[in-house]
Amino acid sequence: MHAPRKVPFFNYPHIFTHDEKGFLEVITGVGRRGAFIMQKDLSDFEKRLAAFTGARYALGVANATDGLQMALMAGGIKAGDEVLFCSHTMIATASAIHFAGGVPVPVETGPDHLMDPTKLERHITPRTRAIMPTQLNGRVANMDAIQAIADKHGLQVYEDAAQALGAKYKGRCAGTFGVGACISFYPAKVLGCLGDGGAVLCNDDAVYQKLYMLRDHGRSEQTGEVEMWGFNSRLDNLQAALLNYQLDHFPQVIERRRQVARIYQERLGSLKQLVLPPAPGSEPDHFDVFQNYEIEAERRDELKRFLADRGVGTLIQWGGKAVHQFGAALGFDQSLPVTERMFKSMIMLPMNMSQTDDDVAYVCDCIREFYHA
Ligand SMILES: *Cc1c(COP(=O)(O)O)cnc(C)c1O
Repeated sequence: MHAPRKVPFFNYPHIFTHDEKGFLEVITGVGRRGAFIMQKDLSDFEKRLAAFTGARYALGVANATDGLQMALMAGGIKAGDEVLFCSHTMIATASAIHFAGGVPVPVETGPDHLMDPTKLERHITPRTRAIMPTQLNGRVANMDAIQAIADKHGLQVYEDAAQALGAKYKGRCAGTFGVGACISFYPAKVLGCLGDGGAVLCNDDAVYQKLYMLRDHGRSEQTGEVEMWGFNSRLDNLQAALLNYQLDHFPQVIERRRQVARIYQERLGSLKQLVLPPAPGSEPDHFDVFQNYEIEAERRDELKRFLADRGVGTLIQWGGKAVHQFGAALGFDQSLPVTERMFKSMIMLPMNMSQTDDDVAYVCDCIREFYHA
């Protein structure tokens, strides 16, 4: 079939080509200064990122997965500590817990596709040490409910905020609620660099000092001396410079994503066969940045094929499996019926900076045609 239009799920070249001249100037500038590792662009970016999020500290790291592992280590997670996480997340959330020495314990997903606080307590044991929600799809979980359970049981809170830079709950940014959090700058994330990159956010001086050493061979910020075992997990100065440059326009990026979500809501909101994410501005406690537009759809697999035939790219998150469904190979034996049921109907529609309003309308027209709406 000849599709009248092509709307890819994601357009990687567009990240670079939409502002090729600007990016090349940044790259040339860094190159001519020979400023590659732990230079001013990095420290400038860290200061601006902290200011943007309201975190006391932001530290650039090689990627969010490393950042999460180091945050858990800096916060004191020890061998055998159980950490609760929502099974609807990237494997990286669980692997960070694993490599920090902890035991990842998957919990159920709520109607908003994030950690369900009402189903947390059944998983708490004497070994539970922390709760780590994933701020998925550019939305912050119900942090009041999660914090209340953490307080009641004396647990720490961490956040996988890889997908949620700029998202807010009750006016407070993702990544600023717990002991530590990670942000990802993977190219397809809301703020993407031209390669791998990440940051950790924290509010505590001691945690910050440990993170500083962990990412750079255990070397202290004050003395430069090795004071503990560390990794090499620094954010390249070049990537930091590219991120710094893009941070100038980041509020407009968020606004555009929310605009795309509004169009989806307007054109698909009446379809009974779909469950859409909450529309921007529809809930006073939440400010969502729409890293993804993840819906639940009747006859999901048929819909996916129908859209593909019409040139519309979609994606099923994590290849269609919740983390606990990776099973015995990773030490999981839980069953989480709500999450498993949701994974049969969830699908993500195109949500990125390359699509036009007409592209979004076309996606909606195709979906309406599928359901004969
Ligand atoms: C992208 C992502 C990560 C990993 O980020 P990297 O920077 O690629 O390590 C972790 N968790 C979630 C929820 C993500 O979406």
